Amino acid sequence: MGSHMIRQQQMKYPCSFVFSGIMLADEIPMFTIQADGPHHVQTLHEPIGVAGQIIPWNFPLLMYGWKVGPALACGNTVVLKTAEHTPLSALYVSKLFLEAGLPPGVLNIVSGYGPSAGAALASHMDVDKLAFTGSTETGKIVLGLAAQSNLKPVTLELGGKSPFIVCEDANVDEAVDLAHLALFYNQGQCCCAGSRTCVHERVYDEFVEKAKARALHRVVGDPFKKGVEQGPQVDSEQFEKILKFIRSGVDSGATLEMGGERFGSNGYYIQPTVFSNVQDDMLIEKEEIFGPVQSILKFKDVNEVIRRSNASPYGLAAGVFTQNLDTANTLTRALDWTRGTEIGG
Ligand code: ADP
Repeated sequence: MGSHMIRQQQMKYPCSFVFSGIMLADEIPMFTIQADGPHHVQTLHEPIGVAGQIIPWNFPLLMYGWKVGPALACGNTVVLKTAEHTPLSALYVSKLFLEAGLPPGVLNIVSGYGPSAGAALASHMDVDKLAFTGSTETGKIVLGLAAQSNLKPVTLELGGKSPFIVCEDANVDEAVDLAHLALFYNQGQCCCAGSRTCVHERVYDEFVEKAKARALHRVVGDPFKKGVEQGPQVDSEQFEKILKFIRSGVDSGATLEMGGERFGSNGYYIQPTVFSNVQDDMLIEKEEIFGPVQSILKFKDVNEVIRRSNASPYGLAAGVFTQNLDTANTLTRALDWTRGTEIGG
C-alpha cells in the first residue's frame, strides 16, 4: 500500500505532503521532454498563488504542518483556518515563523467558525487553491463554494471507513496489535482509522479473543499522565454520537464483546469497545464512528473481502495483513482506497 500511496501523492505535486519540505524548499524539479525536431519542450512548475487551507481538530499541529509546509516551500502564500476547537497550536507555531524571519503576510492564520470564516475562505475570489481536511459533508459544501466563486481547484481529504484485512496466514498476535493501533489511535478520531477489521474465518475466533484482551488492557485516563493510552473524545457532540453508534450496534445484533459505555463519570471518556459478528448492513459497519469502537467482520475468501471492502462510498486507506506476497499484491491492487476522497495537502 505504501508505495502506491507515495506514487499517487507525488503525482499531485506541487501540494503533496510527501514531497513537502523534503526538497521543494531548495529545488523544484523542472522536466524537459525529448521532442523530435528543433524544439525545446519543458514543464515549468510555478507557485499557484494564495493557498486557502481549512483544517480539522483531530490532529491540529500535524494538519498544519502537512498543509503549510509544502505550500510555503513551493513559493505560495497561505491563509489557513484552524478548527474552532483547536486554534492554539497553529497560532503558536506561526509566531515562531515570524520570529524566524518569514515576511509578514506570507502566512496568515484565521481562527473562526466553519460556516462563516471557512466559507468565506472557500468562496474568496482571490484564493487560488483550496486544501480541505474534514468531514465528507463539509467537503461537499466547500467544493460547491469553490465552484460558485472562482472555480479554484480543491484538494479534499475526507472521511473514511477503511478496511483492515487479516488473512488466514497472518501472524495473529501481530495483526491484533496493529489492528488495535489502527483503530484506537487518537481515541479513534482518525480519518484513516482501520475501522472495518475484516478477519478470515479460520483465525476469526482467536483474533476476537485476543483483540478483546488487548482492548481490555488499554489504559484510559488523563492523557497528560504517563502510560495513558486513551484520553477523552473531543467534545460532547462526538461523545454522544459515538455512544449512539454503540447503541445501534447492539440493537442491530452485533455482539458487544467488551466496553460500550461511558468510562468513569467525568469528561467525555468512552470505554474501549469491541464488536464481533458485525454484518455489512449495520450502521457501525457503514458509517464513520470516529471513536474507540472496533468492529470485527468475518470473511471466507479474498475475492469476497475485496468485493465487500469496496462496497462503500468511502475510500482513503486500507491495510492488509498476510505473509503471502501474492495475496498482498492482489489486495493492494484490488482495493479501491481513493474512492470518495482525495489525498494530499
Ligand atoms: P468535523 O465534523 O470533524 O468537525 P468539519 O468538516 O465540520 O469536521 O470541520 C473541518 C473544518 O471545516 C473546520 O475547520 C471547520 O471549521 C470547517 N468548516 C465547517 N463548516 C464549514 C463550512 N460550511 N465552510 C467551510 N468550512 C467549514
